[in-house]
Order: sequence, then structure tokens, then C-alpha cells
Amino acid sequence: THFGFQTVSEEEKGEKVYRVFENVAHNYDIMNDAMSLGVHRFWKDWLLQLMKPTPGMQLLDVAGGTGDIAFRFINYIRAQREKWIRQELKLQQDLSWPDISKTYQNKEQSSLMGSRAVICDINKEMLRVGLQKSLRLGYSEGLSWVAGDAEELPFDDDKFDVYTIAFGIRNVTHIEQALQEAYRVLKPGGRFLCLEFSQVNNPMLSKLYDIYSFQVIPVLGEVIAGDWKSYQYLVESIRRFPSQEEFKALIEDVGFCKVNYHNLTNGVVAVHSGFKL
Ligand code: SAM
Repeated sequence: THFGFQTVSEEEKGEKVYRVFENVAHNYDIMNDAMSLGVHRFWKDWLLQLMKPTPGMQLLDVAGGTGDIAFRFINYIRAQREKWIRQELKLQQDLSWPDISKTYQNKEQSSLMGSRAVICDINKEMLRVGLQKSLRLGYSEGLSWVAGDAEELPFDDDKFDVYTIAFGIRNVTHIEQALQEAYRVLKPGGRFLCLEFSQVNNPMLSKLYDIYSFQVIPVLGEVIAGDWKSYQYLVESIRRFPSQEEFKALIEDVGFCKVNYHNLTNGVVAVHSGFKL
């Protein structure tokens, strides 16, 4: 298999990827902002807009790292909560539902209306940084942090409404195995959403992107995090990842239906979506 552009054994790849994220964990958030000039925030927001969380939704964010997707999920639920409660009250009034106050109180008790996000990552250091961040930012409710491998998820079948993986799947040794696991843990009707670097579809941008990736990012890695090699791997792993269409075919191969993708920033990243029916 491959670790960036190097050919390595499968076992070696897992170990090397682990070391990369162990090394970058502390500077991961700062580096994300620096490398993407903050644009990764917009891409992640976009993923949440596509997901459109609903009350009670159970999310599994695999390769969840420092929690960016899960935090956005919680923020979305909190922001929509009042609107949902108003809608529900109105519906109940329209239907002359007898016990409005009780239902309302139950909803009041949980600010997340039963929704939950599980953040699963193979790297304990990334999880530790994420957990500290969640405490600092005041996310006390609705989150669980679980150490686990995307290729062998520590969860029962048919458990989650949505599975997300953001900038994670290209680091996994056997992509097909991770996709099969995603399929297994989703409930029937559940949705798979993957945000990942992809192939740029604009020739001008592609040239600039190459220069930026190979010449600027490792330098930033060295200057900000004192770690050239890890960032060189990240760039190389992006280049080795399948194209939008190839990845779509892989997702379909494990059984997902209605698979499609959206390019963001001219294909610098793509969001693939599929359903378990
Ligand atoms: N999803 C986060 C985000 O968007 O900011 C973190 C992405 S980070 C680039 C990639 C993450 O994938 C790392 O936290 C790494 O530990 C994790 N990872 C790599 N291989 C994995 C595997 N086999 N199973 C679960 N997580 C894995």
C-alpha cells in the first residue's frame, strides 16, 4: 500500500499515519486554519448544511479528530431547537393534541432534543485535544469520544442516522473496508457523508494548487509546527486519493444508493453522499 508517494507494507502505513497525527495533534487546529486560509471552516459548514440535522438524530463522526464536525452538529441543533419546538407546538395545537405542556417540558429538559454525536478516531492524542477543546468551548452535553478504527468500528449494526468522515478516509489503509463498516453501522435509511480533498477541475487553479501544496504547505508545517515530514505526507496522500468518480464507484460497490457528490472550491474538496436503503 502507500504512505503518501512511498510504497510501504499495510502494517507500516497504519503505524506511520498514527505517528503523523500524534505529532500534529497539538497544532492540528492552528495548522488547518493556516494551510487552508480558514476555508476548511466553510467546507465543514457546507457539510452540515447538506446534512440538515433533525431532532433526535444520532451522528457518528469517524476520524473525527478534534471534533469540528460534531461541534457544528451540536451548534446546528441548538440553533434550530426553538424553531422546532415552535413548529411542534403549533402542529399539536392545530391537531388539538391533548398534552401539549408535557411534551414541551420533555423537550425543554434536553437542549439537544435527544440528538447525539459520537466522535470516533483511532488516535488518542487527537481525541485528547478534541475533548479538551470541547470542555473549553462548553460542549458538555450530547458528545461521546470513542477510540476506534474506521475499518473495525466498535459499534453495533444499524445504530446511526448519519455517518460522517471529514478529511479522514484517505488516511485509512483499506478504504473499501471502512466503507463497509460505514454501511454496517448505519440504520436503514441512514446517510453516508464524506468530505475529502479531491481533484481540482480548473487547470489554472490546479497549477497554483500544486505549487501551494508541494512548496508552501510543508514549509508552513516546518515553521508553525516544526514538522516538515507530516505535512509532506498530508499533501502526498491527497494526490493519491481516487478521483470524484472513482470514489463514487467505491461507495456504490459496498451497497450505498443514490450516491452523488458536490465539488467545493473547484474540486479542491468534494462531498460524497449515499444512503443505506
Ligand atoms: N475530521 C477531522 C477534521 O476534519 O478536522 C480530523 C481530520 S484529520 C486530517 C484525519 C484523522 O483521521 C486523524 O484524527 C486520524 O487520527 C484519523 N484516522 C486515521 N486513520 C484512521 C482510522 N483507521 N480510523 C479512524 N480514524 C483514523
